[in-house]
Amino acid sequence: MTLPAPTVLVFLDPAFENGRVADSSQPQLMATDLGATRGDGVFESLLAVGGKARKMQAHLNRLGSSARALDLNIPEQDTWRRAIGTAIAEFREAYPAPSPAEDEVVVKLLVTRGVEGAASPTCWIQASPSPAGSRRQRETGIDVVLLDRGFDTEASERAPWLLLGAKTLSYAVNMAALRYAHKQGADDAIFTSTDGRVLEGPTSTVLLAHVETLDDGAGSARTVKRLITPQLDSGILPGTSQDALFAKAKAAGWELGYGPLIPDDLFDADAVWLISSIRLIAPVNHIDGKEIGTPALRKQLTAELNELFAGIE
Ligand code: PLP
Repeated sequence: MTLPAPTVLVFLDPAFENGRVADSSQPQLMATDLGATRGDGVFESLLAVGGKARKMQAHLNRLGSSARALDLNIPEQDTWRRAIGTAIAEFREAYPAPSPAEDEVVVKLLVTRGVEGAASPTCWIQASPSPAGSRRQRETGIDVVLLDRGFDTEASERAPWLLLGAKTLSYAVNMAALRYAHKQGADDAIFTSTDGRVLEGPTSTVLLAHVETLDDGAGSARTVKRLITPQLDSGILPGTSQDALFAKAKAAGWELGYGPLIPDDLFDADAVWLISSIRLIAPVNHIDGKEIGTPALRKQLTAELNELFAGIE
């Protein structure tokens, strides 16, 4: 028998101000819950480092906008905050980190439409360890393949019921894309649209950098660094990590840009990254077998972005 992974569950329950802790080794959902039968719901994943949730407000805001896109009426943000606090504290007490550097907890906020005919959604927090593989990929970098996402960049506006900018529980397509990438020997994927634009990873935002040294004509040189991400209204999930990193990068003197991007922009970049709340910044070594930039510049720029990103609350 395999042991269940260390997990803490905290349900949002009006009878429990700080959330109701539930036994993760026991069934906790009704088999008729619409989250289980239809994938009808929304979620968020955030990282707690040293017991503190990163970008809490941004995640709560995005949970709210995803819920609105699905007409789900969810509890107010303070209720979520208290339950998140309970989940992180319970997890760290039950499963203390072996060292401060490993004190990372993955916190998922989950909402389903509830059981058929229910008046209110089912809401809970799941706390679990951060995957060692993700932490490794921050260091080693990843190889990715480009995969067709099957819609064009106008689809989200033309067909809002596709819920393209919402973080819904229907992630089977994203997980299938990851498995497909693994079968090709890659670590991850970057989706492209049918009109040839770069979109996002199955669980991450795409970033690229260009570094240029400009001669000012008076004998000295100036280095311009540009950080670019696909345009946000192209049917992708607006990333909380990208948003927070852009703010830090701007303050540090980087120029910022928002698509549209085509695959050649990735191949021509000095560095490409997949960025997300749990794995953080993963440098892309190869796309479809082609090396991106040079290892030395990739390493230098990744270190720079990691330093900026570490300062995010
Ligand atoms: N795009 C998709 C499809 C995602 O699932 C995620 C995160 O899980 C992201 C982008 C990155 O979002 P964030 O930086 O808020 O984690």
